[in-house]
Amino acid sequence: MSTKNGNPFTNAMRQLDKAAKAMNLEPHFKEVLESPRRIIDVSVPVTMEKKTKKIFRGYRVQYNFSRGPVKGGIRFHPSVNLSEVKALAFWMMIKCAVVGIPYGGAKGGVAVDPKKLSGTELEKLSRRFIQALKPNIGPNEDIPAPDVNTNAAIMGWMADEYSKLAGQYSPAIVTGKPLDFGGSEGREEATGRGGLMVLDAYCKIHKMNPKKTTVVVQGFGNVGYNFSRLAHKAGYKIIAVSEAAGGIFDKRREGMDPDHIQKTKKARWTIDGVYCRGSVCDEKNYKFVTNKQLLELPCDVLVPAAIENQITSANASRIRAKVVLELANGPTSADADEKLNKRGIVIIPDVLANAGGVTVSYFEWLQNLHNEYWPVEQVNEKLAYYMTRAFNGTFEQARLFKTDLRIGAFILALTRITGAMRARGY
Ligand code: GLU
Repeated sequence: MSTKNGNPFTNAMRQLDKAAKAMNLEPHFKEVLESPRRIIDVSVPVTMEKKTKKIFRGYRVQYNFSRGPVKGGIRFHPSVNLSEVKALAFWMMIKCAVVGIPYGGAKGGVAVDPKKLSGTELEKLSRRFIQALKPNIGPNEDIPAPDVNTNAAIMGWMADEYSKLAGQYSPAIVTGKPLDFGGSEGREEATGRGGLMVLDAYCKIHKMNPKKTTVVVQGFGNVGYNFSRLAHKAGYKIIAVSEAAGGIFDKRREGMDPDHIQKTKKARWTIDGVYCRGSVCDEKNYKFVTNKQLLELPCDVLVPAAIENQITSANASRIRAKVVLELANGPTSADADEKLNKRGIVIIPDVLANAGGVTVSYFEWLQNLHNEYWPVEQVNEKLAYYMTRAFNGTFEQARLFKTDLRIGAFILALTRITGAMRARGY
């Protein structure tokens, strides 16, 4: 079973295997969790600007409903495929259980390069996808959210489309919406903020001083940018950042200002303001590095915040970080995970580290269901409570079972998921 090139679902199942062995999970529970409850595979036809029709492939995987309605983002990316969406839905199930919010996991995706679409085409695609999913989603059934290449504007169109089809205002159908249309304060930066809370907690235990801690971040989208910005403010030294096109490295290791980089990059907006053509490389004061070089830079904390399978058996032996904080979903392959563990590199797993996003999505959903608006202070305070509880729970399980943090988080989650299955009479 080679996962060298990273079949994400195979990686996810290897993680499940390992956790199941460590906690002695009953085989019938494991068997249920080895496949999703429902797979939705749809064609999404769009009439393009030039009046030609283009058919895109879209997926939604609803993994497990034991703990509540399913929840997870929708991504627009050319490499979206069913194996990937299945894995991402599985990780959402684990993640929601790690932070203790009442959802099963789901994920969706459309195989498309959204940056090649016009604003109108992008809106049509978003609305069409919701039309296709309508029979199987709902505020008490499946609640989508943003993910790679999707954002608040797209969530606004999706919530509007669903509301029209349902014949009633239904803001709780989607989270990560614009603030003016039922979005929550603090949602935009929640994944980055939650990641920083986890890193702070880790540094405190290990007596690492943020001001002396160098951080390399792969990915400068919503998650990478907001994490870098908040970490920089908290005193950490951000010495390199990157995007698909490549990255920049501060050779003096003094730390760069992510807001300045973002400003330079945003000088090049496109597609009716939905996407940015600019890149971090527009900032010329630093040395250019490829993504491959960036991942191998010596640093204290490496933060993959882009897509899956960035740390694999091909580069695991050359990673020179002390800690890997996984803000992307599934950035480390199962083989690489073993190699890093053997080398004593600590991995703070995705299902804990990036759970801040879905946690504030939960708060947004609660606000929508009750027609409330919470102030940002309340959102951030509650986020800190959930993240700290998940961090402590993960460390506790890892200690009790003498295992790594990923398996600790899985044990915490699987205990909750199978507890709900048992209580329902499985
Ligand atoms: N896409 C995000 C994730 O991977 C957020 C999902 C959500 O808010 O439902 O966790």
